[in-house]
Amino acid sequence: MNLAFTDEDIAFRDTIRTFIATNYPSRLRAIADRDDLGKEDFLEWHRILGARGWSAPAWPTQYGGPGWGPTQRYIFSEELARAQTIPILPFGINMVGPVIYTFGNQAQKDRFLPPILKGEEWWCQGYSEPGAGSDLASLKTKAERDGDNYIVNGQKTWTTLAQHADWGFFLVRTKADGKPQEGISFLLIDMKTPGITVRPIITIDGGHEVNEVWLENVRVPVSNLVGEENMGWTCAKFLLAHERSGIAGVARSKVGVKRLKELARAETMDGASLIEDPDFARKIAELEIDLTTLEMTELRTLAREQAGEGPGPESSILKIKGTEIQQRLTELAMEAVGNYAAPYVRGFRDYGDNMGVGPDYAHWTAPTYFNTRKTSIYGGSNEIQRNIIAKMVLGL
Ligand SMILES: Cc1cc2nc3c(=O)[nH]c(=O)nc-3n(C[C@H](O)[C@H](O)[C@H](O)COP(=O)(O)OP(=O)(O)OC[C@H]3O[C@@H](n4cnc5c(N)ncnc54)[C@H](O)[C@@H]3O)c2cc1C
Repeated sequence: MNLAFTDEDIAFRDTIRTFIATNYPSRLRAIADRDDLGKEDFLEWHRILGARGWSAPAWPTQYGGPGWGPTQRYIFSEELARAQTIPILPFGINMVGPVIYTFGNQAQKDRFLPPILKGEEWWCQGYSEPGAGSDLASLKTKAERDGDNYIVNGQKTWTTLAQHADWGFFLVRTKADGKPQEGISFLLIDMKTPGITVRPIITIDGGHEVNEVWLENVRVPVSNLVGEENMGWTCAKFLLAHERSGIAGVARSKVGVKRLKELARAETMDGASLIEDPDFARKIAELEIDLTTLEMTELRTLAREQAGEGPGPESSILKIKGTEIQQRLTELAMEAVGNYAAPYVRGFRDYGDNMGVGPDYAHWTAPTYFNTRKTSIYGGSNEIQRNIIAKMVLGL
């Protein structure tokens, strides 16, 4: 793998950098508190990229992708992270979009792909249930045929940002007997359909990011079934592999390391800067080495995708290492600011002010630490990813 950028790559990088500098809304830059981001804020940057044809870097050109190779996609994500733009939410672009263009019929492609690209419709993921997380195939939400409709009943949980969703992709049980995996179907459900109730779950950092979704006699047209009835497990697994590789977050962790170093430079211990402390410097160095190694793994995965091989079980490696690094970053930040992480009060609007106690940059350390605990759980927990590696990669 040649890692040196060519002149064309550098020209491409400059084009992206200039585009972001010129087009990223200053209004969004000014929103420092993620709690203040509303639906329209999340979608605004998506729409700008969509209008430029850059919202779905990995999609095939026939469905609206920009036709970039792995290097260009890598440069693009680096530049977005570098500029600290609001990330494009994964549910449409990275998850249901690829399922629809791979398994959907022409009418579904025509109806759903353009609004996903343009950021006109917000999607949520209805997989997990109170009794079906790691053991997803045991899901119970039921869809029964009634003429041209399914009648759906059940409960989903942990549904990220469903409070904003226009559409959801749901795994439902369409056959009760036989192997559990062989009785699941993949349904696209309009979240405005009568019978759907979204209830908030407040997380440990005090945020409203996840929800319960209740479905009571929800009528869903059979035309919203993707693929064949009872073949939804194939779509589900395909989607999870895409979801996992997207979770690695290498480019944004690189920015995180830069920030951690700034923080360690500003913090002092026994009169010297914390970054000069050999023990803390070692911890940062270990993290950077892990991140560089992960970056190489991600580049290898991208190169394989370019050669026509979709993300396979190796995406579990990206998921585990990527999320461990994200968590480690927040743990070291907590270690660096120490007690000054304590004053955080959710809803306190003056970002940058640590309520007069310690440095202002300490304000976000604790909530970011708490929020990042989720990363080793969602997208399939890291223990489950290890099981997948043992079975599918190592053949144990
Ligand atoms: C912030 C957040 C957002 C989420 N967003 C969504 C979403 O939008 N849509 C959606 O459908 N789901 C979402 N999820 C759900 C997520 O996918 C599940 O939480 C995850 O799959 C784990 O399932 P569970 O919570 O039921 O835990 P369980 O499956 O009950 O697992 C509990 C513990 O046991 C371990 N464990 C379980 N089975 C095994 C095994 N066989 N071997 C070894 N260890 C095992 C797990 O690793 C875990 O540590 C989200 C979760 C979080 C935390």
